[in-house]
Amino acid sequence: MNRLFPISELADIPSEYRNTPIALLLEYHNLSRPFQTYAQAQLLVGMCMDNRKHLHMPDNFAFIIRSGGANLRYSEFKVSYAISVGGVRHIALIGHNHCGMVNLIARKDAFVEGLIETAGWDRERAEEHFVHFAPMFEIGNEVDFILSETKRLRLRYPKITIAPMIYKVEDNRLYLVSEK
Ligand SMILES: [Zn+2]
Repeated sequence: MNRLFPISELADIPSEYRNTPIALLLEYHNLSRPFQTYAQAQLLVGMCMDNRKHLHMPDNFAFIIRSGGANLRYSEFKVSYAISVGGVRHIALIGHNHCGMVNLIARKDAFVEGLIETAGWDRERAEEHFVHFAPMFEIGNEVDFILSETKRLRLRYPKITIAPMIYKVEDNRLYLVSEK
């Protein structure tokens, strides 16, 4: 987590993001910038489905895709749609600390028992389901994953600006991830 860059004032926003929707998101969420009115989305936010996070930003400002770990590998059609039809040119990819998609294997028993008890699955199906999907959704480490997913998306969408961020659940603030 020592690769996180706090944004506490305007001067903390790196020059490459100034005057972009990336800077606006940081200003709205971290710096209490007064809300403007938007008629169309300026930004695509990719963030985890985790319930502990809420972004402070105006209505209509951003498309949001939420998926475990902010993993957009299986949401690419929606990313493409937000760019092509929605007209956004910037993506904020926001991971968070204490993410449930880290070390999934440690929650295998809870996952299987939960599906049996709560959803009515049989044990064999529940175990197969876990074994099949856990490797696709495991992210390893929150910061490393956000950086690798940012690199992957930059190759896939070379004209789009993509900013890697982490949301800390203790202080509810956004941090830029250092790429050096
Ligand atoms: Zn998460």
